[in-house]
Amino acid sequence: MCRHLAHVGPTPVTLASLLVEPAHSLLVQSSAPADMRGGGTVNADGFGVGWFTAAGEPLLYRRDDPMWTDASFLDLARGVATTALVAAVRSATVGMPVSTAACAPFRDPGGRLFSHNGVVRGWPHSMADLAAALPALDLLTLEAATDSALLWALVRARLAAGKDIADAVAGVVADTLAAAPGSRLNLLVADGEQIVATAVDHALSYRTHPDGAVTVASEPLDPDRAWVPVPDGSLLVARAGGGHDRPAVAISPL
Ligand code: GLN
Repeated sequence: MCRHLAHVGPTPVTLASLLVEPAHSLLVQSSAPADMRGGGTVNADGFGVGWFTAAGEPLLYRRDDPMWTDASFLDLARGVATTALVAAVRSATVGMPVSTAACAPFRDPGGRLFSHNGVVRGWPHSMADLAAALPALDLLTLEAATDSALLWALVRARLAAGKDIADAVAGVVADTLAAAPGSRLNLLVADGEQIVATAVDHALSYRTHPDGAVTVASEPLDPDRAWVPVPDGSLLVARAGGGHDRPAVAISPL
C-alpha cells in the first residue's frame, strides 16, 4: 500500500526536511517501508508532493518513477519551503494503471489536496452505484481509472454540496465500506490550514512539534517518541496549534 504524509505548521519547512532527511523519510519508505500489512513490498510506482504557497495555492510535482531515481526532485526538495504539504509514494494496486496522473496528491480547483492509501475491494464493480450518482462530467474528468481518483471525486461532490472536509471524508468512508466491505481507506485531505485523515485498516501516526506544527504520516519518520499511532477506525483533524500545550489534533471514531 502506498505511504502518505501531510504537514501543517506556523513556520515554513523545506520539503526535504520531511520527505528526504528523516531516518525513515518518505524517500526511505519508497524502497523500505516498515508496515505495509501485506499490501505490496515497495512504493516504486511513482510519487507526488503538493505544497501550499504563501498565497495558499497548492503546487504539484508528480512523477511515475520511483522517488529515489529523481535526483532533480531531491535537489528541488531542499530549495522549496512551505507551511503545508501533502506527499505520497505509490504502490499501484494490481489491475490499476501506472501513470503520473494516478499518483497522489490529487488537486481540486478549490485549493485542496487528496491522497488515498489503500484499496477498494471489488473494484470497479463494487463502486458502480456510488459512481452513477456523480455528475457525468466528474466521471469524464477523473484523473485516472483508479479507486483513489473515484474516492476523490466522491469527496469533492460532498464538498460541492456544502459539507466540510471532515464530514465529506467520513461520509465517503461510510458509503464505500457499505458498498465495498473490507476496503482499506486511509484518506488524506489538506487545504493549507487543516489536515483531515482517516485510519481504516491501515497504518497512520501523527506528531506535534514544539512550534505547534503537526505531521501526519503512514509511518513515523523517525524513532522520536512524539509519534502517536492513530487507532484504526478513526478520523483525525489537525491544525497548526500554539505548541504542545495547545492540542492541535482531534481524533474521533468514524
Ligand atoms: N489503490 C490505490 C492506487 O492504486 C492506492 C494504492 C496503495 O495504497 N498502495 O493508486
